[in-house]
Amino acid sequence: MEIIRIPRVMQDTSKGHILRGRTIGFVPTMGALHEGHLRLVRRARQENDVTVVSIFVNPTQFGPSEDFKQYPRDIEGDTAKLFKEEADILFMPDAPLIYPEGFSTYVEVEKISERLCGAFRPGHFKGVATVVTKLLNIVKPTKAYFGQKDFQQTIVIKQLVKDLDMDADIVVCPTLREQDGLAMSSRNAYLDIRQREAATVIYKCLIEASDLIKSGIIDANYIKGVMQDGLLKEPAVSGLDYAGVYDPVTLSELSEIKGDTLLAVAVKIGDTRLIDNMLVIPVRKYE
Ligand code: AMP
Repeated sequence: MEIIRIPRVMQDTSKGHILRGRTIGFVPTMGALHEGHLRLVRRARQENDVTVVSIFVNPTQFGPSEDFKQYPRDIEGDTAKLFKEEADILFMPDAPLIYPEGFSTYVEVEKISERLCGAFRPGHFKGVATVVTKLLNIVKPTKAYFGQKDFQQTIVIKQLVKDLDMDADIVVCPTLREQDGLAMSSRNAYLDIRQREAATVIYKCLIEASDLIKSGIIDANYIKGVMQDGLLKEPAVSGLDYAGVYDPVTLSELSEIKGDTLLAVAVKIGDTRLIDNMLVIPVRKYE
């Protein structure tokens, strides 16, 4: 596995592969890799000639009071995991090479960036959209792989790729979960044993809401109430940013379920902010 730290070198390497007619699969990550990340890497390997994984903890997507400094980092462990997965290239740039002095261009995706996490993490999606645009321009992938766990992020990225005429295919992969349903996340490492146990409430509340929809309930406010009550009943839940029923295209809140529906949750357990979501396709057909 080749390790590249300099964006220009990554760019030239990708150009070389493209000139030879090879497809490039790209998995951008912030490291502290878990099985959820590795699934994306495996999928990229299956579908492309060359697999590139990036590890970059992007400072511009963290707010001033967020966990940029504490964010788990495990370069040695990550390198070993990617080597074992037979990734071809690990792209690991230092922040000053991505944001050199004088950097002054940002990408903002309007409307969908302002909803859900965007309302609680001002500037977060501007940071995400900017770094993903840069990474796609550097790596020049045929296909780029993202997890549904960060559903809002996937639609922000699809929108920017469309609006800016970029030509990577964006592939969204299912959320990988622990046996008890908790979505795998690098931030799960922050949880102590008691909090880790309590965190299963998130998946339970998504399943409960999904079952209600599948049983034919169309009152989205009722379902939102059930979700919020379930979450707030858990004493380890120290804050509720949002939990409810949303249109998966616009991310606006639904009052009535008419078709495909996004259930989305962001809660704090202790100081750890966890998000999860579920796309539900109602069994009944609505007019
Ligand atoms: P992160 O390192 O958290 O920025 O995640 C890098 C990529 O892995 C993003 O596209 C995430 O959505 C994806 N990802 C993170 N956790 C999971 C998971 N449990 N299942 C599937 N994909 C995931």
